[in-house]
Amino acid sequence: MRDQLFIDGRWAAGNGGALPVSDPSTGQVIHHIAAGSPDDVDAAVKAAAAAFPTWSSTTGEHRATFLDAIAEGLQARADDLARLSAGINGKPLAEAEVDLADSAATFAYYATLARALDARQDAPVPLAHPGFQAHLRREPVGVAALITPWNFPLVTSAWKVAPALAAGCTVVLKPSEFTAPLDLELGALAEAAGLPPGVLNIVPGGGETVGAALCAHPKIAKISFTGSNAVGERIMAAAATGTKRVSLELGGKSAILVFADSDLDHAADLVVSGLFTNAGQMCSATGRLLVEESVYQPLLDRLVTSARGLRLGPGLDPETTMGPMTTEAQHRKVLSAIRRGVADGATLVTGGGVPADKAEGWFVEPTVFTDVPLDSALWREEIFGPVLCVHPFRDEAEAVRLANDSEFGLVATVVTGDDARAERVAAALEVGVAWIDCPQMVFVEASWGGYRRSGIGRELGPWGLEAFQEIKHVVRPKRA
Ligand code: NAD
Repeated sequence: MRDQLFIDGRWAAGNGGALPVSDPSTGQVIHHIAAGSPDDVDAAVKAAAAAFPTWSSTTGEHRATFLDAIAEGLQARADDLARLSAGINGKPLAEAEVDLADSAATFAYYATLARALDARQDAPVPLAHPGFQAHLRREPVGVAALITPWNFPLVTSAWKVAPALAAGCTVVLKPSEFTAPLDLELGALAEAAGLPPGVLNIVPGGGETVGAALCAHPKIAKISFTGSNAVGERIMAAAATGTKRVSLELGGKSAILVFADSDLDHAADLVVSGLFTNAGQMCSATGRLLVEESVYQPLLDRLVTSARGLRLGPGLDPETTMGPMTTEAQHRKVLSAIRRGVADGATLVTGGGVPADKAEGWFVEPTVFTDVPLDSALWREEIFGPVLCVHPFRDEAEAVRLANDSEFGLVATVVTGDDARAERVAAALEVGVAWIDCPQMVFVEASWGGYRRSGIGRELGPWGLEAFQEIKHVVRPKRA
């Protein structure tokens, strides 16, 4: 496992002490890695700033060759990196393999977009005025700080590193302190690809030390953050000093709407994968199930059977279909949300605790609640764990109203046999991504991000690239 910082093209020991890396299926510390200090952050930002003038003046074609090489490196090492992910995040190996494919696809996609930049540069802008002409340049914003969480290690980092490098930015990545060994592998892949020193720097460490120092650094032009709302708001406040650009991908409390005209077996599968994937540790988990009242009980019966049928175990066990919580703090947080839900009057239908055969590790039973008060924390706040809340609705209007009644607006899923209704409901949902008859399908070509408190800006697709670009118009009198 990688255990050093990656600064200016070299592996460095780090001055911030040691960070433990745990196996979430046992709760045991299995490794230590070096943490950065504010001085290490300063060195990394200075290396990125020094590399910026050269890197930002290269062609998109040139930058694309490195992105392609990193994509190929990820593909070549997909098996061992997926095993590393399953071991330290805890997710089932099959899910970790999907993450690896997504990360590689992200680098390959932004290589394509980087190449397309060259032809688009200096594009004419039609003006109504007869005496002037203008053209458009897209220029990299500068040195970018990229801060990522632990639930999709490598993927979330790829979603930021690839478009930032494609745009011509140089970056300092601060991955989550819990899963950093995986993100550090990007340094090894960049090294193998011959990426110039300073273009990509990686400094693991705590949020309050490394993260805060990075956000406060005066040479940072842009902060791209994925994580909790509490930290996102602090990052936005930090970005105010120096008017740093900021993109935020934050929490969610997403709904899945099941209409009576659905195939209920299919609907149950969508509800299960929409929530219990990654043990519910997804900003996009569809943890609020809204179900038309005439099929409420048959769907609930199917869900209880499916939830009880999930096989909990270590991510590396091929039999496992749901892993543990990734961190001890998350384990405590989910169990406390469940206890509070019961205290607030919700009915616990299945699960609700630590599985009897899992005294070790950070496992939580797949949990289903009904009769959840609509003003309770269980219904309104993100849990980030395997906890489903089920609520009936009478008609389409009520379903849409309940789905939209949230401070968040990241995603929603609509399940119905009526195609016209599916499109109508998808249009009415106030979310960044509306899925029809499919769960958690994320494509690099489409956008990612949400309405309201789910964040600011969009990742992926061309929007993910634009987040790292400034727009410049060059205006002059028309040439004779
Ligand atoms: P977190 O906010 O605790 O930490 C995220 C990152 O921020 C970590 O790298 C952490 O070290 C760093 N950090 C913490 N304090 C900081 C500070 N003061 N300054 C700078 N950096 C700081 O989140 P987490 O627990 O790692 O991840 C779970 C959260 O992430 C959930 O709320 C989830 O909804 C959200 N999330 C959102 C998306 C999305 O795309 N919208 C995706 C994944 C996760």
